[in-house]
Amino acid sequence: MQVSGQCHCGAVSFTALIDPNRVIVCHCADCQQLSGAPFRAVLPTPVAQVTISGTPKNYIKTAASGNRRAQAFCPECGTHLYATEAQEPKVLNLRVGCIQERAQLVPTVQIWGQSAMPWLDDLMHRPLHAQGLTSPPLKRRADHRA
Ligand SMILES: [Zn+2]
Ligand SMILES: [Zn+2]
Repeated sequence: MQVSGQCHCGAVSFTALIDPNRVIVCHCADCQQLSGAPFRAVLPTPVAQVTISGTPKNYIKTAASGNRRAQAFCPECGTHLYATEAQEPKVLNLRVGCIQERAQLVPTVQIWGQSAMPWLDDLMHRPLHAQGLTSPPLKRRADHRA
């Protein structure tokens, strides 16, 4: 499946030929901290299948294991775009949040459950507004089932 993505300001964009059945949700502490979100969805894609325009900046993250990973982000707006091997990138873990077709990219597996937020299972039982707090709440599947 062909997808396109870009950072928030548009300085960096990409197109990629991806496998939509490979989306992973990662609950590791690094993903939480780097993304500023409770978890992150990533899509591993061979580097040869990704065309990038613009120049991302890399932050090299060294894991406790010594494994070094390049975290690519837009130097203008800070959007995270992908992570890859620090030396000789082979696979780009594209950040699903910056892919235009993300609603179609359904995660098939989750990793690092040991650091997952304990409240995630209850999240979809909380009120969900269509937009901001003053917008109407949405009816959800769980509501219809009841
Ligand atoms: Zn940007
Ligand atoms: Zn992670």
